[in-house]
Amino acid sequence: MRLGIDLDGVVADFNRGWMDRYNQHFAGELHPDQVLSWDGLVPITHFADMEEFWTWAQDGPASIFRDLPCYEGACDSLRRLSKDHRVVVISSKFDWAIPDTLEWIAEHRVPAREIHFVWDKTAVECDVYLEDAPHNLEALARVRADKVVCRFVRPWNDPVPGTIDVASWEEFVEVVRRVGSRDVASG
Ligand SMILES: [Mg+2]
Repeated sequence: MRLGIDLDGVVADFNRGWMDRYNQHFAGELHPDQVLSWDGLVPITHFADMEEFWTWAQDGPASIFRDLPCYEGACDSLRRLSKDHRVVVISSKFDWAIPDTLEWIAEHRVPAREIHFVWDKTAVECDVYLEDAPHNLEALARVRADKVVCRFVRPWNDPVPGTIDVASWEEFVEVVRRVGSRDVASG
């Protein structure tokens, strides 16, 4: 099967990554638990808006996307899943973030057969999707209603009709296994 895998908030710990850098630069004391909504980032920083955040985020020898930590079990699970399935990375990224993201994928040995940098994730057809962003989950559930869309449960998302909740990488691997055996049974 084609597994459409989002990166930030699913494989890469975006919040922990930028907060580590922020705390170092500004002697801050931010913690990932403080992000409780999709747009909850600006209010806990000194930035005026997301534009200011993104300007800072691409500063330095590399942007924040180069050194995000991996969520526990994420890369191992992808390597395991890749033995039977096609890992299709689907990530929304600004142009400046693409080289750093490609280096990150290589460094973490993500077995990505395909990598798509798109704003509209419904454009990439997959059998199973794993995503954390509310707007992407809603779009996938609507446009790809015949596919399996998994919401990676995070503090910044809520249940979305038509999606399956997964709270860990172990749960996602299990969903893929179940979908795979259903396909075999119905085929
Ligand atoms: Mg995401």
